[in-house]
Amino acid sequence: MLLCPECDTDLDVQEDEVDEGEVISCPECGTDFEVVTTSPLELKAVGEGYVEEEEEAEEEKEDGDYS
Ligand SMILES: [Zn+2]
Repeated sequence: MLLCPECDTDLDVQEDEVDEGEVISCPECGTDFEVVTTSPLELKAVGEGYVEEEEEAEEEKEDGDYS
C-alpha cells in the first residue's frame, strides 16, 4: 500500500505494481507523483518545474519561424 506524500491518503497502489517513471495521481489532493525508484519506492511530485516543457521550448527555438 502506498500513501500520498502530500496528504497521507491511500493511493490504492501496491509497491510491486508500479514501474520507474510511472505517474500516480492522488485521488484526494490531485497531486501527480512520478515513481523515481522502485526499491526503495520513492515518489516525486510532478508539478511546476515540469521537464518536458523545457524540451518543447527548445524545439520551438530551433523552428524559429521569424518572417
Ligand atoms: Zn494526496
